[in-house]
Amino acid sequence: MADNIKKIAITGGKGGTGKSTVAVLMANQFIQAGKKVVLVDCDVECPNDHLLISQPLDKIIAKSYISFPKLDKSKCTKCGLCVKKCRENAIFQKPGDYPIFLKDLCNGCGLCWNICPVGAIKPEKEVSGKIFLSQVKDDFWLVTGQARSGLEETGPVVAETKKAALKFAQDKGADIVLFDTAAGIHCPVINALMDTAIAYCVTEPTPMGAYDLALILDLVKKLGIEPRIIINQADLGDQAMIQAVIERFNVPVEKEIPYSKALMQAYSQGQLLRFKDF
Ligand code: SF4
Ligand code: SF4
Repeated sequence: MADNIKKIAITGGKGGTGKSTVAVLMANQFIQAGKKVVLVDCDVECPNDHLLISQPLDKIIAKSYISFPKLDKSKCTKCGLCVKKCRENAIFQKPGDYPIFLKDLCNGCGLCWNICPVGAIKPEKEVSGKIFLSQVKDDFWLVTGQARSGLEETGPVVAETKKAALKFAQDKGADIVLFDTAAGIHCPVINALMDTAIAYCVTEPTPMGAYDLALILDLVKKLGIEPRIIINQADLGDQAMIQAVIERFNVPVEKEIPYSKALMQAYSQGQLLRFKDF
């Protein structure tokens, strides 16, 4: 399964450090080197890689699903057991009334329909996310995962996005798949990082950048992934704190990207593919 494909993550503990910019620039650099590349936007709550390269999201190649509880009132005895046991507080019940399920809080864990003593709850499948494909160039594709708004747990959408992207990459004989993760160190980020060989951790020389870099490096190392560091806007701010983190984790700095007005303009105009090197 996709054995010859090099899987690389672009990640970062902090939002706004330029992770997606780096992912697009890196993809373009591989394309210039003659590689077939699939870029996967795993930031499913707020995907924006397509905006950076002016691609529409109009071709759906897969969907992810979640099961929500549906009540059969003819069976429910109003015992309240499901309300007591739901760990997400996603079930509300007025005294003497039927339980009400709150989708915005429900993660579809299935506990309620498995413990209801009279089988009054059944799972009902709904779409939790859509996965889009854009052909950007002859040998460059973008796969974008997009979770439905208000979804409590988006990790499974990331997992489905990766699955669809890897299958597509294998069918196309792609050389490299780049996974652009969300910011942070929560479950959807872990889902995106899993099974990648290298994780480029994008940071910036600020106190928050240094603090969050330490968090993501710790996570990446725990997952057994080779970490590398990219410092964005490296000539702004104070690098002392970043350097302390770098020394603590003993991770190489792959690249320092200086502030560039031309890059910022291309970013804001959806023209990042103009940059062949970075
Ligand atoms: S556990 Fe079953 S019977 Fe009891 S309140 Fe919930 S749905 Fe109704
Ligand atoms: S599926 Fe899980 S989270 Fe959702 S209402 Fe039932 S017990 Fe609560």
